[in-house]
Amino acid sequence: MLPHQARIRVQSYDRTMDAHQNRFKAIAELVGDVMAETLWPTRCAVCDMPGQLLCEACARRLTAIDACLACPTCGAPFGRIQCTECNTLMLRTLGHDRIPFDTMSFALVADHGAQRIVKAYKDQGERRLVTQIAQRCVPLIGPDRCREGCAITFVPDSLDAQRRRGFDHGRELACRIADEAGLDCLGLLMPPQSVDQRELGRRQRSENMAHALHVAPGAPVPTHLIVFDDICTTGSTLFAAADALAAAGALHLHALAFGRV
Ligand SMILES: [Zn+2]
Ligand SMILES: [Zn+2]
Repeated sequence: MLPHQARIRVQSYDRTMDAHQNRFKAIAELVGDVMAETLWPTRCAVCDMPGQLLCEACARRLTAIDACLACPTCGAPFGRIQCTECNTLMLRTLGHDRIPFDTMSFALVADHGAQRIVKAYKDQGERRLVTQIAQRCVPLIGPDRCREGCAITFVPDSLDAQRRRGFDHGRELACRIADEAGLDCLGLLMPPQSVDQRELGRRQRSENMAHALHVAPGAPVPTHLIVFDDICTTGSTLFAAADALAAAGALHLHALAFGRV
């Protein structure tokens, strides 16, 4: 047998093995999915009814933020004519004189449904909800927010939260949104110290976050950035991210979140 004939046989044998391995892997995944579905049936993240990740009734009840009614400055759901959220008094409680973003966009009012989706995703192991969350955020990235060289960055989880959850949910969501929007996803901010903000008021949150976020040393910060967070409660986290990124050279910042309280 000539050496090249032996090589051809080895290659075709390799291809046959690859095909067998791929088929075996696909069957194993299918069996795994069927077993998981039998043991832990898919349930609606909001009402817990078996069947879908988000049932049609709950999906219909989610409150989308209408850009025609929202405040053009801070994205508050009904602030188009008169906004009570971004006046001087309110901004001062966040330690700012003006909004540190060119635009702020939110997919949903963060009522019970939106909060349940985020909780099921990040704290109850229902990672498949990344698709539901990303699908509602991607349409908000329009040409007015995204220029040549624009990228998405995110507010990272604290290291404690990453250990507890086993992943950084902000990174995973931002990267999925970036993938679907055809943008780069950049990890620019360092994980903050662990701070549970859930029980804190507006001013306390702002004071906690004021110096909690920093750009990683040497990270290349583009001039145009979209900053993603899952839920915007008072804006203190997004504002702190904007301050850190602006100090590192970002000139045009756009906030993007799945829900806005
Ligand atoms: Zn439901
Ligand atoms: Zn406003």
